[in-house]
Amino acid sequence: MGKIYQVVIIGGGPAGLSGGLYCARSRLNTLLIEKGIIGGQIINAERVENYPGFPKGISGIDLGQLIHEQAISYGLETLLAEVTKVVPSKRHNLVSTSEGDFVAESIIIASGSQFRKLGVPGEDKLVGKGVSYCATCDGPLFKGKTVAVIGGGDSAITEALYLSKFASSVKVIHRRSQLRASKIFHERAMAEPKIEFIWDTVVTKIEGDGVVKQLMLKDTKNAKISILELTGVFVAIGSEPSSVEWRGLLSLDKEGYIITNELMETKIPGIFAAGDVRHNSARQAITAAGDGATAAISAERFLSF
Ligand code: NDP
Repeated sequence: MGKIYQVVIIGGGPAGLSGGLYCARSRLNTLLIEKGIIGGQIINAERVENYPGFPKGISGIDLGQLIHEQAISYGLETLLAEVTKVVPSKRHNLVSTSEGDFVAESIIIASGSQFRKLGVPGEDKLVGKGVSYCATCDGPLFKGKTVAVIGGGDSAITEALYLSKFASSVKVIHRRSQLRASKIFHERAMAEPKIEFIWDTVVTKIEGDGVVKQLMLKDTKNAKISILELTGVFVAIGSEPSSVEWRGLLSLDKEGYIITNELMETKIPGIFAAGDVRHNSARQAITAAGDGATAAISAERFLSF
């Protein structure tokens, strides 16, 4: 048996960090476990413009660090490790990690989501060799080059705008003729001369000999095949929940998101879910933070009985 915590939080994005802040400030003995980088997916955002309190915007990395710092100041403990197994048991949930086992009286699952892959030939083979899922991380490598962004949501358009600072040309390839992205991003992208939209088109293959050389494209309206020569492909087609270890334990929707009620309670008493991993999440940093706070308040109530 490992160290006992009143609350173990799995995931260090806005949901987990805000949950950690609320738990620690309520004097609950709390451990937050993060397998990657503190901040979660917002670390990929060059500038977060819609988190209240930052009228000039703030970088995703800075926002994550600030919430973390605030939570630590109230006593949150943080562990960088991967959760390998959870065995639920009333008030004695076992949380196994790559750094050892812990006992959790309650758990907040805030494991977020991971980038969705295109699933076309060449994608896996060329990751890191021209295929990327993070413009903020890899964009500067493509100075003066032609790149493509796949997708039509907020992620795709913010990535395209960021990439236009470095690349000579940014092609946004979208499977429909209408963007899903917010109007404000759409307007900015339309005003950026380096960005060009390729509508009603899907990528069928990524080709290259060691590094990305070209994309094979298919027009969804007339099935016409074309080739686009480039050096970088940024895939921004949404994400999938990081919930695999909860299959069979909790109720998940058909896409794998964890079902909770409005108190963030799952079907197991003492186990809560918050943020992007949760069914019906608005998938915004601010709503994730709100979920985390709600989950923490629910955990505190659970522990007081
Ligand atoms: P979304 O799910 O919003 O958009 C995914 C896009 O990818 C859609 O345009 C979709 O097409 C397309 N797509 C999905 N699967 C495929 C596929 N297999 N092949 C080709 N295209 C595909 O995901 P995002 O990551 O863009 O955004 C997620 C959430 O994060 C949203 O709530 C968004 O508002 C938020 N966000 C907010 C930001 C901000 O405010 N600063 C920045 C980034 C994200 P289709 O439209 O046809 O379904």
